[in-house]
Amino acid sequence: MNPMNKETALVVFSGGQDSTTCLFWARRHFRSVVALTFAYGQKHVAEIDCARAIAEEAGVEWHLMDVSFIGSLGRNALTDSSIPMDEEKPAEGPPNTFVPGRNLFFLSIAAVFARERGINHIVTGVSQTDYSGYPDCRDAFIKALNVSLNLGMEEQFVIHTPLMWIDKAQTWQMADELGVLDLVRTRTLTCYNGIPGDGCGQCPSCKLRRAGLQQYLRVRSEE
Ligand code: ZN
Repeated sequence: MNPMNKETALVVFSGGQDSTTCLFWARRHFRSVVALTFAYGQKHVAEIDCARAIAEEAGVEWHLMDVSFIGSLGRNALTDSSIPMDEEKPAEGPPNTFVPGRNLFFLSIAAVFARERGINHIVTGVSQTDYSGYPDCRDAFIKALNVSLNLGMEEQFVIHTPLMWIDKAQTWQMADELGVLDLVRTRTLTCYNGIPGDGCGQCPSCKLRRAGLQQYLRVRSEE
């Protein structure tokens, strides 16, 4: 491996609210930032256009990697348009929008990609707080994977999860403090129905995002 480049961070970047906030967080904390977007067979390829445009605006190097095999490995509502999405979190198990192995693959591939470039800092926008029932967003999984990657490649990767312990309202607050509240609000795509910005307003992702924004704006107006 190249000498560790502690000045550079690689951001796993989907073009959604969380990873966009992380992109600007990384820009604040590292001298240079590289963004890596995965095409995993998601129904809404507009996500990729959002990611490309935001990376360009942020002035960070952007890479797109095709990992569409992930979507075809296991059936789920994010990559298979014949499956209607769960509106609510089921009583047991993850919702059918869970893409099994997604973060495992993303972070493992990101680590190999980073290693090639002498980068050991990897940033991901996963959060355990407004936990959507995705087991691969939890802190224990990320820490375990970090150890595995270091052992498996004999490296010293550090996986940063700036959103792990904050909720959606606090994620909006972070975006505001980074000076990108409007950018995150209008340019990112989080909606399960593929509508950028404020989205469809109906899907679980839009509801979570909107509730967080309203809560944050309310708190801010009271200050
Ligand atoms: Zn929506």
